Formats: sequence, structure tokens, C-alpha cells
Amino acid sequence: MTLFYNQIQPQITNIKPYIPGKPIADLKRELNLVRVSKLASNENPLGASERVKKALQDLLIDIARYPDGSSFELKKSLSDNLGLKFNQISIGNGSNELLGLVARIFASDGDEIIFSQYAFAVYPISAQVVGATGVSVPAKNWGHDLKAMLKAISDRTKIIYIANPNNPTGTLVSIQDWDYFIKQVPQQVIVVLDEAYFEYVAENQTINGLDYLKRFPNLLVSRTFSKVYGLASLRVGYIMGCEEIISYIEKVREPFNVNQFAQVGALAALEDNDFVTKSIKINNIGMEKLTDFFTKKNLPFIPSAGNFVSIDLGNNAININQQLLELGVIVRPLANYGMNGFLRISIGTSKENEHFIEAMSKVLCQ
Ligand SMILES: *Cc1c(COP(=O)(O)O)cnc(C)c1O
Repeated sequence: MTLFYNQIQPQITNIKPYIPGKPIADLKRELNLVRVSKLASNENPLGASERVKKALQDLLIDIARYPDGSSFELKKSLSDNLGLKFNQISIGNGSNELLGLVARIFASDGDEIIFSQYAFAVYPISAQVVGATGVSVPAKNWGHDLKAMLKAISDRTKIIYIANPNNPTGTLVSIQDWDYFIKQVPQQVIVVLDEAYFEYVAENQTINGLDYLKRFPNLLVSRTFSKVYGLASLRVGYIMGCEEIISYIEKVREPFNVNQFAQVGALAALEDNDFVTKSIKINNIGMEKLTDFFTKKNLPFIPSAGNFVSIDLGNNAININQQLLELGVIVRPLANYGMNGFLRISIGTSKENEHFIEAMSKVLCQ
């Protein structure tokens, strides 16, 4: 196992790999279950829009060809919809790829990358991969303490990652705190605002990162098709910023980083507003259902603006997670986020939510 230990880049040895939600097929196989509800990866419980599925079927005929390396149609549609220039957008193999590329472009050995305690696990990994030091700033009420993050900036700070809403806590930054923050960040520090759950947030609840791009060339905003658009498996996301930074991302990304199914699926998804509206509605109904249940059972939860909610089960979390698995419900333990007593539950269809509530009620009675 240590045959190549002395050859690898030292920062790579300590990386704790990202832990994904348990796949449905794994649990079915392991416990011989028929009915499994996966509420572990913040996926859209409705699946994908019928328009997307239709568009993808028509593509099968063309899989021998390389995809469009520039993602032209998708980028064009996004730039028209969002009021940005074509060259202000880069498309990625999931937004995850793009978050990592920003680290690759701006940071290396000895540099610092700031993120919040309990922030998305991809940020510390992105820092480590390039040899930079991850600086975790203590959270405030489970969310970003933007004032403390400003204070954490040093001469070596290259990037600040902020998820809004944050995953796994579902917290939002306040408009006032953000306005102060973004003005104070020195222009040589890149701010990456990760808006993976942007579409779920009700209007005026928080900022829209795009409103700040013109004034702040050091700001990048990322979004994804993995969540409300229901295309997690296709791997497609995008990042927006000033043309100069986007041109660097275009230089370092792989020539064909976004496959043709992802491009065509995302384009079709953008054209189906009804699906998005329906998904948000189902999410709001499910969120209310689950949080009502938690309130009734006296289970503390962190109010969430996303399509998931995290609950505090204290010392029983590991045990309860195991019992839920045995009852066919997959949720996400948050120990690797330093939130030992917490489980994160993605909002499902009404059937899946019922399955969870039924299983949880059973477990709590024991
Ligand atoms: C799910 C998620 C993403 C999206 O990742 P993709 O690579 O686009 O699937 C990005 N950021 C956060 C905070 C997320 O929770």
C-alpha cells in the first residue's frame, strides 16, 4: 500500500475523500430490501423533466461523435436568460469541477483558501489538492460569519468560498452582511459564491450573486443542473464572472469536459419552467411536512432554505441512521462535517417523506 508514498505530492496523502450518499442499489443488495427511499443527496425527487428525457432519447444516435467542446447552445441559452455575455460563462462537469478549477488557477503551495465551518466538503478538498491551506472560519448560528471571514483574510489569501444557501446547514447570508462583506474584500482575493440551491430560495430572502458581478470583477457565481433541474447524474453546472477570469477557466478545463447528454439535457431543462415551478412547490410542501414532524417530536432542526434539512439527534445519530437504513431510508450522517449528532434529510416526494416519517416514528418509539 505504501509503494508510491514517497513519490506523491505531500498534500495529497492527507485528503479525506468526499463521501457521497449511499446509492439505492447498495442498500437493496446489502439488506435485501425492496422499498428504499434515498433522501441523502439533495437530488430532485421528481427525477428530470419529460422534455429532458425526450431530448436525450434523440441523442443516442450520435454517441460516436465528440461533444461540442464549447457547449455553444447551452452557453448561449444561459447568457440570453441571465443577461450575461457569452464569455462570462463557463460550463463544467458539474459545478464541482469548476469550483476545483478556480483553486487550480489561483492557489498553490503556501496560499490560503477561506471557507466557513460546516461549509460544503468540496472546498477544503479543492484547497488541499492544490497544496493550499484551508482556513475554516467558525460558523455563526450554523451559517457564514462574514465579518469573521473578512478578519481571516491575510496576505496569503487567494480565494473565499461561500455557499448560499449553505449545504449541509441550509443557512442564508443576509443581504446587509453580504453587501458589507463584498465591498471590504480586497480585489485580489477571489470570492466564489456557490448558488447550487439558488432556485429554491424565495425572492428577497437573500442576495442574487449575479447582481454583483458588474461591480466586483473578483466575484464568481456558480450554479448547477444537479438540484432543482433534476440532472445530477448528467454532471453539468456553470460558473459566471468577468470575462478575464472565465477565459482562464476556459484554458484549464478539459477540452470536452461536458458530455453531449449533459449539454442537451441542460438546454432542454432550461426550457421547462413548469417543471422547476412544480419542483419548488413539492419541495416547499415536503419541507413543511418534515419540519412539522420534527417540531411535534421535539427534534431540533436547522431552518433550511434548500431542499434538505438537518436535524440534531445528539448521541443517537449513528444508531438512528442505522435503524433508518434497516427500514429502507437513506439519509446523510454529518459527522464528516464536524456535526456529529446531525443527520441531513433531503426533501423527497410525498411518498418518500411519508416513508421517512413512518420509519423515524418507529425508531423514536423504541
Ligand atoms: C450539490 C452541490 C453542488 C453541486 O454540485 P454538482 O457538481 O453541480 O453536482 C455545489 N455546491 C453545493 C454546496 C452543493 O450542495
